[in-house]
Amino acid sequence: MSVIVQNCRTCGGRWFPVRLLCPRCGGADLATKSIERGTVQHLTHLGDVVIASVACDPEPLLVARLHGPVEVGDVVELTDRPGPSGRPVAFVPPSATPREESS
Ligand SMILES: [Zn+2]
Repeated sequence: MSVIVQNCRTCGGRWFPVRLLCPRCGGADLATKSIERGTVQHLTHLGDVVIASVACDPEPLLVARLHGPVEVGDVVELTDRPGPSGRPVAFVPPSATPREESS
């Protein structure tokens, strides 16, 4: 399981969702990178739904829906395909993810 983010080849910044230019250096040489885990920074409970900000070593900071019992500071797996894995995961909708490079 993972989420695809953009990685700036000029400054190393990682971005999500998709950008046309790197917001840090203005570079246009943006590759894709697969991120598998992140650390839960904040939780928001909306009824039965739990939304979290998840830091990914340390960029990008993702907003994700959590599935399973998770506390602030926990490391969670990231996915863009929610499923009945039984493990706690942070779900980022696929419509918000950049397409992976085909090469
Ligand atoms: Zn950059």
